[in-house]
Amino acid sequence: MITKPKGTVDITGSDALLWEYVNNVVSTMMKTYNYDFIRTPIFESSELFHRTVGETSDIVRKETYDFLDKGNRNMTLRPEGTAGVVRSFIENKAYAEPSVKKYFYNGTMYRYERPQTGRLREFTQFGVEVLGSNDEFIDAEVISLQYNILDALHISNLQVNINSLGDAESRNNYREALVKYFTPKIDNLCEDCKERLKTNPLRILDCKVDKDNEILKNAPKTIDYLNKESKERFEKVLKYLDYLDIDYEVNPNIVRGLDYYDHTVFEIVSLDSDSGSQSALGAGGRYNKLIKELDGPESYGIGFACGIDRIINVLKEIELYKEIKKEIDVYVMYVSEEEKLYALDIVQSLRLNGVVCETNNMNKGLKGQFKEADRLSAKLLVLLNNEDLKKGLVTLKDNVTKEEEKVDINEIVDLVVSNL
Ligand code: AMP
Repeated sequence: MITKPKGTVDITGSDALLWEYVNNVVSTMMKTYNYDFIRTPIFESSELFHRTVGETSDIVRKETYDFLDKGNRNMTLRPEGTAGVVRSFIENKAYAEPSVKKYFYNGTMYRYERPQTGRLREFTQFGVEVLGSNDEFIDAEVISLQYNILDALHISNLQVNINSLGDAESRNNYREALVKYFTPKIDNLCEDCKERLKTNPLRILDCKVDKDNEILKNAPKTIDYLNKESKERFEKVLKYLDYLDIDYEVNPNIVRGLDYYDHTVFEIVSLDSDSGSQSALGAGGRYNKLIKELDGPESYGIGFACGIDRIINVLKEIELYKEIKKEIDVYVMYVSEEEKLYALDIVQSLRLNGVVCETNNMNKGLKGQFKEADRLSAKLLVLLNNEDLKKGLVTLKDNVTKEEEKVDINEIVDLVVSNL
């Protein structure tokens, strides 16, 4: 038997229903915030991720799915969504348009990680990227959008953990402070952290191995190294979040694993979720240097990404969603070949009128069809039999109250629509 690759999932049954529900809530909310859908390729040239996510990041060092295509080009399955969207923004010269670009995406990402609950090799993220504005209001809007989507899904006890890395000057000062602090203590950190001290000391604070180490807990805090401008910017973002009534906590340990962030960085967790380090449902940050680094013009960017697989895991614990099951509007029942022709016609007319409809498609007898209708939780039944059809009649039955009446076949579609 051929099985699915390690770290991937099949989304079926009630999980698939939840999945669709989440996607609907996401798209609706994105539209109310005036974000436009964008779809970029699942694979891109490897260079794109090396230059954006960063050569020294765990993702690029250990986790990307790389391959040579038949034309000997280095390709990578996207590990995240920002790089592709920013590449598209530059390549299509969207920066030349007069308004700020507000994009949202929803798609699979690939990271060669050690699979565990909430950590997959193929997973799905929805996210946004706002390109072209450095207004602090946009930072607050992006955070509130992420918060309000999760809130609309009834995920309780949400908290935004937020921090600022500041501008280049602040980041450099902070980096120096970290090097000074960690150098004498490096023997007590993991092998990766020893490497990180040389390449990107900020990453030490992100370490999954050393995360409970006292040395990390007592490390210098970003906030203390922000210059005046960066500090004022951060305070403004927090003020706007207060106005938007978003629960947040300033958490100096949020530094984010990717290379491209500056200023605002954040993640969102549900304090009710007990999945430990996998409790972050989404995360994001500002990346004002990235567009220039990818050969675009001087511009600004900020975005977030949320993991749908993780959201589904949380929703499954919520009472409201435990009962989620498939329901159809109408099940059309018939037995003979002549009745079948009428059934086909009625089913098609109902479907074209937006009625969710099914019929006997396995040659079942009436008893089997009643059972199938119950399995599908059909609200109404339409029963066809030759005798009635000769008189132009069909039976419409309420599958809950069990009341039924014979009605004119020409009126069945209108009657069903008005009964739903
Ligand atoms: P990141 O792109 O690493 O900032 O992650 C943003 C969000 O994507 C996380 O908060 C998770 O919800 C989700 N996520 C990241 N990596 C994985 C993974 N390997 N499996 C499932 N979800 C993930």
